[in-house]
Amino acid sequence: MEKILNYINGEYREPQSGEWLDNYNPSNGEVYAQIANSNAQDITSAYEAAKAAFPKWSHTTIGERSRIMLKIATLIESNLDRLAEAEVKDNGKPLSLAKAVDIPRASSNFRFFANAITQFSSDAHESIGLNTMNFTLRQPIGVVGCISPWNLPLYLFTWKIAPAIAAGNTVIAKPSEVTPMTAFLLGEICTEAGLPNGVLNIVHGTGPSAGQAIVEHQNIKAISFTGGTKTGEHIARTAAPMFKKLSLELGGKNPNLIFADCDYDKMLAVTVKSSFANQGQICLCGSRIFVEKSIYEQFKKDFVAKVQQLKIGNPSDSDTNIGALVSKPHLEKVQSYIKIAEEEGGKILFGGKSVTVKGSENGYYLEPTVIEVYDNKCRVNQEEIFGPVVTLMPFETEEEALEMANGVKYGLSATLWTTNLNRTMRVSKQLEAGIVWVNTWLNRDLRTPFGGMKDSGVGREGGFEALRFFTEAKNVCIKYE
Ligand code: NAD
Repeated sequence: MEKILNYINGEYREPQSGEWLDNYNPSNGEVYAQIANSNAQDITSAYEAAKAAFPKWSHTTIGERSRIMLKIATLIESNLDRLAEAEVKDNGKPLSLAKAVDIPRASSNFRFFANAITQFSSDAHESIGLNTMNFTLRQPIGVVGCISPWNLPLYLFTWKIAPAIAAGNTVIAKPSEVTPMTAFLLGEICTEAGLPNGVLNIVHGTGPSAGQAIVEHQNIKAISFTGGTKTGEHIARTAAPMFKKLSLELGGKNPNLIFADCDYDKMLAVTVKSSFANQGQICLCGSRIFVEKSIYEQFKKDFVAKVQQLKIGNPSDSDTNIGALVSKPHLEKVQSYIKIAEEEGGKILFGGKSVTVKGSENGYYLEPTVIEVYDNKCRVNQEEIFGPVVTLMPFETEEEALEMANGVKYGLSATLWTTNLNRTMRVSKQLEAGIVWVNTWLNRDLRTPFGGMKDSGVGREGGFEALRFFTEAKNVCIKYE
């Protein structure tokens, strides 16, 4: 059986514990690989490699760093099929999605930060009349930690690694133990691209063991984490006494506000996507749909009709719209929320049942599920489900829509559908979310700040924000005569 090994100092190594975790293929429920179950000893080895690589890498010219990163980007592109197939096997997402989004985006992450670093600059402040000149140095931090989740495995893993190494840091990165395969393959690509040994070290294993050891390590001074809010809270508690820099990208419960004056057909098509893309397992999916009362009944009918047409199937089939959920425990969690919705008086308008796919009978498939709820305070509207489940509710006024949109502890993203410019401005300004999309969804320019408010996170990634996170600002103040 295939083994997923750690990539430390440019070579593949077995875990020091000698222990392995099962890696499941969610489309058929079978174990198909063994994952290194790493612990603090492996993190120490990775740290030693990263520490040794840091002096040279941090003094490598921007041009050279950029050149190597562009090569990594190109190699990801030329391995598109292999990486997409690996992502599908690990995650259960449709192959078409992995080919169109996940893998191209992983390549773009390297390409984008390879270019961004050539444009990154710092400030100078001349204290006129005082014969003083200040300038800001932006220096790499040293060895940094990157921890990522399972929903967009290579996409989010590289979203952290690329700015970290572009800025001159060396990295210890841990992908989710649920979807480690593409991170494992990235090691090979980095070696082929000529990334010096130790600049990127990829360690596999569980959160409480390998992940916790990264966060607890005294000399790993910055952690970029994407995952659940509970885990983020735990990481913040662990890291705070060591005064680590933290970037936390956490959960969401994103609202879709649909006004009667929107471009209806466009809204309908995009809302189906924003609800169920990647089986609803994107932190930016709109899971609460609020619709203006005058078009609510029409929307309900049209939305359910479109959702009915989505094809659930083996992720490798080209006509599959909805693949498998990532794991059995996750499927059970999502199903438990459908039960909660019924207990709370929600009305299942469509879906709600698990699906048996011919030839993949033991896979983790669930119908896309649409639930009408009557109170925004119900658990299915307050807690992150992170699966193919959306709720519908009508609203009468803009104020009511905003109150419901903001009436959750999360604040990651929001989508607004209207053609009224005044409303666009009013509502965008009042939405409590790090990202507001108007008449679009998941439209990403990598230069823009990315992150959440409230319990959806701390800090922003993307563009120069990420390069600022991965550097220390040092002011140098020169007095001259
Ligand atoms: P998770 O929090 O369970 O795990 C995320 C990562 O953290 C994994 O690599 C895991 O091994 C590691 N981890 C777990 N415990 C740890 C610990 N004690 N110390 C260090 N690392 C630890 O999240 P998940 O289930 O993999 O992902 C789903 C969650 O991620 C959802 O809540 C989703 O909203 C969120 N998410 C957020 C964004 C964003 O950009 N805000 C993007 C994608 C996913």
